[in-house]
Amino acid sequence: MSILIKNVLLNDKRTSILIEGNTIKTIATDIAVIADKIINGTNKAVFPGLVNGHTHAAMTFFRGYGDDLPLEKWLNTKIWPNERNLTDEIVYWGTKLACLEMIKTGTTAFNDMYFRYKEAARATDEMGIRGVFPQLMFDNLDPVRAKKVQSEIKIENFAGDYSDRIRFSIAPHAIYTVSGASFKWAMDFAKEHSLIMHTHLAETQIEYQNSIKNFGLSPIRYLNKLGVLRPNLVIAHCLWLDDEEIQMLADNDVKVVHNPNSNLKLASGHRFLYHEMAEKGICVGLGTDGCSSSNNLDMIEAMKIMSLLQKGWRLEPTALPAHEVLKVATENGAKLLGLNAGKIADGMLADMFLVDINTPAFTPLNNNTTSNLVYAANGSNVDTVICDGNIVMENKKVAGEEEILEKANQLVYELIKH
Ligand SMILES: [Zn+2]
Repeated sequence: MSILIKNVLLNDKRTSILIEGNTIKTIATDIAVIADKIINGTNKAVFPGLVNGHTHAAMTFFRGYGDDLPLEKWLNTKIWPNERNLTDEIVYWGTKLACLEMIKTGTTAFNDMYFRYKEAARATDEMGIRGVFPQLMFDNLDPVRAKKVQSEIKIENFAGDYSDRIRFSIAPHAIYTVSGASFKWAMDFAKEHSLIMHTHLAETQIEYQNSIKNFGLSPIRYLNKLGVLRPNLVIAHCLWLDDEEIQMLADNDVKVVHNPNSNLKLASGHRFLYHEMAEKGICVGLGTDGCSSSNNLDMIEAMKIMSLLQKGWRLEPTALPAHEVLKVATENGAKLLGLNAGKIADGMLADMFLVDINTPAFTPLNNNTTSNLVYAANGSNVDTVICDGNIVMENKKVAGEEEILEKANQLVYELIKH
């Protein structure tokens, strides 16, 4: 399969892009080849596929449920009691709904953290985008439970008939739900099998204070002492930390994912130290977090919020400009998932999205398509999405979308009973 995108705007210049198989083959102003599929790019601009660095895909079913509560109360009274009702079918369709929303808003890869990962992986594989799915760990800091949880995690559990777009990870949920022993065990498992380890850390002030109370150390110092700060560790949040802890993350090449919408909505914190981390060379990606805390999976909206938030709390309008936040959401996201993607260049994976520039958000078109994407547009401006060399959305239509919406509306009553 080959695709030729003709005369499209890439970095404000007209060019054509030839995709062969799952790879970007050539980028040139004039490409004279016969392709299986031709996309007329005259009214389009193209960007690398967005990478959602931290989400809980199937939580789409909790969209709009339990809004406006603090994190601990929200988890204890709204989310965890209802998660007991999860079934394979709910996770499968919830993940399909998430993939539908991600495709419609330009995301081609995501780092998931949820239960029943086999169903999530199957749903994502069918939808045609990339995902990383964990065996999730909770041991409630109980040594007996910890042994049981560890004994249930096996590399063979990941076996299945999946495409190369599907990868796996291990995810101890957080330091307040998982013991230090299990964190160490999980990192050994991740190293042995070359997996990403994905966790939540330093998200709220309460977590920070309890960490000092229970472990005698702040969250990042605690993981440093456990020896699990490693290059394959992907940490969501990282709002509560100091300069010395940033240095610990940098020294160990730990990857960090900022989730501004979730952090603001749950009032977890707003002073994300992006520039301090970037200056030390830390790879910072962007995520939405689950739909229950960010309410959508729109990474274009998340880019705008991340940029405005940096400007706002620093009182610094030059902080995190549009081109840099786009890099965070694409190149950095691909790097933290270990993907040869995130850039539109020869030899990279063919993951990208096209927007219709014949719309108010992209008018006037004055060499500022990146600015228009980040500050003026939102996910609904996305017109066409290509992942792994396949078209997963064209003219805003995704195969099977009506069925996904219908199923979600039916199944939600089996999940939310409290
Ligand atoms: Zn999360």
